[in-house]
Amino acid sequence: MVGPSPSGGGPTPSLTPRQTQVLELAALGKSYYQIGRSLGIAENTVDVLMRQLFKRLGAQTLPHAVFLACGAGILDPRRRHGDHAGFAAHRYRDEEPCEACWEGERAYRRDRRAARKATAV
Ligand SMILES: [Zn+2]
Repeated sequence: MVGPSPSGGGPTPSLTPRQTQVLELAALGKSYYQIGRSLGIAENTVDVLMRQLFKRLGAQTLPHAVFLACGAGILDPRRRHGDHAGFAAHRYRDEEPCEACWEGERAYRRDRRAARKATAV
């Protein structure tokens, strides 16, 4: 069964988790090269995923794709990256956390370990 789309317009577009990650990183200003590095995939693959998601969204440009994805609820413009909350949000969505969130999570775990050590002594 297909429910009505929240916007009331045509069918709500959806992206694969990989396409969503690529768009999210592109929306953060990352280059295709940086996105590839973050996700552990080739720059060419990033290009292919971008073309696919543009087509799915009916987007002409990257800003257009970001705008459409936010409107469709695929991207959350309020979502934060780069800390423990961002990391947890990735995990909750069953995604591989982005590089910024991994860095934030590692810092968070370091702090927690340091705090535990401090109270143990
Ligand atoms: Zn992230």
